[in-house]
Amino acid sequence: MMSSVSVSHTLSSAMLSLYRLPGASTAKPPLFPSTSTFTQPRPPAFLFSHSKTLPKPPKFPKSPSALLQWNRKPQLSGETPRVVVVTSGKGGVGKTTTTANIGLSLARLDFSVVAIDADVGLRNLDLLLGLENRVNYTALEVLNGDCRLDQALVRDKRWSNFELLCISKPRSKLPLGFGGKALIWLVDALKSRTEGCPDFILIDCPAGIDAGFITAITPANEAILITTPDITALRDADRVTGLLECDGIRDIKMIVNRVRTDMIKGEDMMSVLDVQEMLGLPLLGAIPEDSEVIRSTNRGYPLVLNKPPTLAGLAFEQAAWRLVEQDTMQAVMVEEEPKRGFFSFFGG
Ligand code: ADP
Ligand code: MG
Repeated sequence: MMSSVSVSHTLSSAMLSLYRLPGASTAKPPLFPSTSTFTQPRPPAFLFSHSKTLPKPPKFPKSPSALLQWNRKPQLSGETPRVVVVTSGKGGVGKTTTTANIGLSLARLDFSVVAIDADVGLRNLDLLLGLENRVNYTALEVLNGDCRLDQALVRDKRWSNFELLCISKPRSKLPLGFGGKALIWLVDALKSRTEGCPDFILIDCPAGIDAGFITAITPANEAILITTPDITALRDADRVTGLLECDGIRDIKMIVNRVRTDMIKGEDMMSVLDVQEMLGLPLLGAIPEDSEVIRSTNRGYPLVLNKPPTLAGLAFEQAAWRLVEQDTMQAVMVEEEPKRGFFSFFGG
C-alpha cells in the first residue's frame, strides 16, 4: 500500500521541484496582470505550490533515508472524523470527481475514509469509483432497519480503507422525513463502529441549494467548495459560501477546477488568482482541464490511481495533502515570458 504512495509522491515531488518558482511576491497582485520580466527560464503549464507542508525536495536524493523523509505521511490535523462536505452550487463543476479522487488519495495516504454519496436523485459516485455493481443496500435501508450499516458500506477492493455509502438508489427522490438529522445519525453510527471511527467522512453534495443540499451540509464541520473559473459558477459558489457560513461551517476551502492556462493567457478565462480574489476563500487546489478525467470517469478508475500520474491527478493528490494538514496554497498571476513562450501558473 505504502509503496505506491511513495512512488507517486516521489513523482509529484520531482514535478514540484521542476515547477517551483523563485519566491512569489506576497504583495497583492493586480486583478488582470500583464506580462512580467522574469530572467530565469520558466516552467511550462502548471505549477503546484506546496510551500508550507512539503519541504523542498532534493533534486537527487543523496541517501534512501533522505528519500524516506520526503515520502513522509502527512500529519493529520484536527479531530477525527473530519466530516467534509464537497459542494458547489452549480452542477457539473466536479464535486463527484473531487470526492472520488481526494477520497482515494486519502486512502492511499493510509487514512480511513468513508465517502457518502448524498446526491440522491443523480447518484454517480459509485460509477466514478467503479463500485456500481457492488451497491446492494443504501443508507435508506439502514435507516428503515432493513439492513445493517456495514452491509450498506461498499469497501473498495483496491484500497480497503476506503468505503462508499450511497444514500439511495439511482433516480429515487429524497424521501420525506430524510433530512439533516438522518445524516447526523449515520455519521454518529460511523463514528461508533467496532472497527473504529474513520479519519475522514467525505459527503458528495447534490447541486443546488434546496433540501438535498441542506441535508448534505448538516453533519459537516468543514467544506470544500468546487468552482470552475466562470462567472455563473462563481456566483453560485458565493451564494453557497454564505449558506455554509449561516449553517456554522466556517472552515471553507475552495478548489478551482477545469483551469486552462492557454485560455487564461489569452484572457479568455479568469485566472485562479481572480477567482480567489472574488470569493475570498483559501485555496486547497487548482485542477487543470484534463481529458484523462473524462476517460477515468468512464472507466470507473479514479485519476489518482493512474500510473504515471497526470497533472490533474497530481493536483488532486496534493489537494488531499493540504486537506490532511489543513494547509492551503497561494495562487499567483499567470505570467508570460514572450521570448521563450513559457508561462507560469502558481507560485509558492
Ligand atoms: P458534479 O459532481 O459537480 O456534478 P462531476 O464531478 O460529475 O460534477 O463532473 C462533471 C463532468 O465534468 C464529468 O463529465 C467530469 O468527467 C468532467 N470533469 C470534471 N473535472 C474535470 C477536469 N478537471 N477536466 C476535464 N473534465 C472534468
Ligand atoms: Mg455529482
